[in-house]
Amino acid sequence: MPELPEVETVCRGLQLQLPGAMVSEVEVLRDDSIGYPSVEEFIDELAGHRFESVVRRGKYILINLDRGAGLACHLRMSGRLIVMKDTKQPSRFLRVRIGLKDGRELRFEDMRVFGRLWYVPPGKTFVDVIPTLGELGVEPLDEMSGGLLESLFEGKKQPIKTALLDQRLIAGIGNIYADESLYQAGINPLRPAGTVKKIELDKLAGEIQKVLKRAIKHRGSTLSDYTDSEGVNGNYQNKAGVYGREGLDCRTCKSAIERVKISGRSSHFCLKCQPLKPARKLKSR
Ligand SMILES: [Zn+2]
Repeated sequence: MPELPEVETVCRGLQLQLPGAMVSEVEVLRDDSIGYPSVEEFIDELAGHRFESVVRRGKYILINLDRGAGLACHLRMSGRLIVMKDTKQPSRFLRVRIGLKDGRELRFEDMRVFGRLWYVPPGKTFVDVIPTLGELGVEPLDEMSGGLLESLFEGKKQPIKTALLDQRLIAGIGNIYADESLYQAGINPLRPAGTVKKIELDKLAGEIQKVLKRAIKHRGSTLSDYTDSEGVNGNYQNKAGVYGREGLDCRTCKSAIERVKISGRSSHFCLKCQPLKPARKLKSR
């Protein structure tokens, strides 16, 4: 499943390719892929718009169009948003085809059809059309510190892993990167979020940003069938410390990596490096 680094990678690719391009025609091959408005309106109203800029919010791709309109996309499980120069190249799970005046094509492919595209008409905002966007928490690449995590987790009894995945607290960290940053910070994913000490949260905040930035540098992850906007696979997977490494040696202490389900999500950790009770020497400031 594409997570923040993958979506950021797609956005950066689209930002290099789309601004200035004009939509000449739109074809919807699968009605379910359109979240708003109706399929007919999507086709009619998107045509003729010019792409201006591409930004990310959580795991949403937000494309600003001319005249104050917008095009939003969520890739969900298996979506791909790709700019094609060779429009004759077949694509197996093509759901929406957006033809560009310069002869290229923006394609939305989606094997599992959970992904969505939304057209935001002039006069409306992205949040008007996708209310969930308004409920998203902080952007971990923009805003992240131990103090912030402490205030977000205050009084929370749920496992810290679950709290890290709560989109209303922090937008878009995702399963892989939650496991990786907890490992790097030496925090057991099962510890109640509200009991983790400030000094540990300081470390975690730094590791979250490091892990996400490193993943972006490596063009996201290949843990799913994810590819970036140019159809290139990411290569973060080989760098993982714990994710997908159940039973393998911890890269730090050689203990076996364990896997447990936390709130239904597979969680990987090293019990020796991430004890259930924090070391005594850690003192809160
Ligand atoms: Zn270890």
